Amino acid sequence: MVSNTRREFLHASIVGGTLAAGEAVGKEAEASAGEIPVKAGYDIAVVGAGTAGAIAAIQAGRLGLRTVLIEKNGMPGGTTTVAAVNFPGLFHAWGRQVIAGIGWELVSRAVAECGGQLPDFTVVPERHPQHQVRVNRAVYASLLCEALQQAGVSVLFHTIPAQVEEQEEGFLLTVCTKTGLETLRAGVVIDATGDANVVGLAGYPLVEHDTLQPGSLILTLAGYDFDALDKEHLRKVFQEAVEKGELTPEDDTFVRRNIVGFLAARGDNCTHVTNINGRTSTGRSEAELRSRTCLLHVYRFLRRQPGLEGLEIAFMAPECGIRETVTIQGEATITHEDYVSGRLWQDAVCYSFYPIDLHYARGGGIDTRPLQPGTVPTVPRGALVPKGSRRLLAAGRCLSSDREANSALRVQATCMACGQAAAVLAAQAVRENTGVMNVDMKGVYEILRQHRAIVPG
Ligand SMILES: Cc1cc2nc3c(=O)[nH]c(=O)nc-3n(C[C@H](O)[C@H](O)[C@H](O)COP(=O)(O)OP(=O)(O)OC[C@H]3O[C@@H](n4cnc5c(N)ncnc54)[C@H](O)[C@@H]3O)c2cc1C
Repeated sequence: MVSNTRREFLHASIVGGTLAAGEAVGKEAEASAGEIPVKAGYDIAVVGAGTAGAIAAIQAGRLGLRTVLIEKNGMPGGTTTVAAVNFPGLFHAWGRQVIAGIGWELVSRAVAECGGQLPDFTVVPERHPQHQVRVNRAVYASLLCEALQQAGVSVLFHTIPAQVEEQEEGFLLTVCTKTGLETLRAGVVIDATGDANVVGLAGYPLVEHDTLQPGSLILTLAGYDFDALDKEHLRKVFQEAVEKGELTPEDDTFVRRNIVGFLAARGDNCTHVTNINGRTSTGRSEAELRSRTCLLHVYRFLRRQPGLEGLEIAFMAPECGIRETVTIQGEATITHEDYVSGRLWQDAVCYSFYPIDLHYARGGGIDTRPLQPGTVPTVPRGALVPKGSRRLLAAGRCLSSDREANSALRVQATCMACGQAAAVLAAQAVRENTGVMNVDMKGVYEILRQHRAIVPG
């Protein structure tokens, strides 16, 4: 904990002037015995370099703000890359583009770098996944790294916040680095952890639900000819193995109670891991342990079946993908009715487009409800701002929304658009020396358009 004397000194240095990114503050602060030195001052700290956070940091850096990006893993992209959900959507609705900006720039560049082709977005697809854009994970993560460096963002991988202290003009963030605790100062913090970890540490309320969508471990299976498999036999012996206790009911849930579907999809986005709290280290660890144990059981069983003797797990995501944890309680909350009616909020910062898409908490199936033709919902500024906060934003899937609206809002194109918008709101709060709910939206829209984002209305 920072002492009062120290707090006064630090506050004086925040109010009294600016520090270059990475520049250490005065000797007094550094010298306080037994305390954590304040290492550096930034205009904006983004925590979480995932789908939303990497885009937020690039935008803040491109605006010339001193920006630090703090990430627990060793590469950016989050769920898109580390959890291997590398098929972002949806940037287009009803034959036109509704989300562009930095997310689209990098996603479309990732496709071009690999010599790939984008779908024909002028044709409204029968099924929404046809308009998701598959990116190569390595290329996309590397493009993010390049863009972060070009934007002058200070990146701290392998680092996680331990304590957040709100001050009049910003925050002190104590982070755990590989070599111990360090404290950073930031004028505005953008929580892009997906799980509102920073908002929680700062003491703002979160909305938790008893029911949560399952997570998924993304895989690539190889070494078999699917067409040549005896599917009926496989279904029968798999079910018998579950009944005899050779496989567990959780193994059955893991393959979504459809072993043939699991093999048909070659493991890609077709597993379910239920009853996990992905917001905590304990809950995340449980998800990693349980999903991989199920995988091993199923793998051993399948390798004993005819036609699957050569089955290989060619790829396994380093992290189990998490669909849902908490949301912030925002200055505005997007409800199901707002979403499906395509409400145009007065201070909308971006569009969002996806069906209501709730994976059943018990695993197995999905409740998918497409939007009515022509409907394109929007996201208001207030959904990114924890209620009662001044200089704190949340970008990504934890934005303020009810469960049904969130099941659609959580998708990647929306997270990227929210990340970009959060960075512009943060930048304007620093420049106008005010809270994020008070910044002039005309200026925000102008900057978003300059950076090729699509502003609703
Ligand atoms: C299995 C699955 C399938 C999905 N399918 C689709 C789909 O088809 N299309 C689609 O568009 N979307 C899909 N989604 C939804 C979408 O991928 C996610 O909702 C979205 O990527 C979340 O973005 P985010 O920025 O909120 O979080 P993330 O991308 O998860 O980023 C959070 C980042 O913060 C870091 N972090 C977390 N906590 C901390 C901490 N305390 N300190 C430091 N760093 C931290 C993480 O390591 C990560 O890099 C799917 C999701 C899952 C799990």
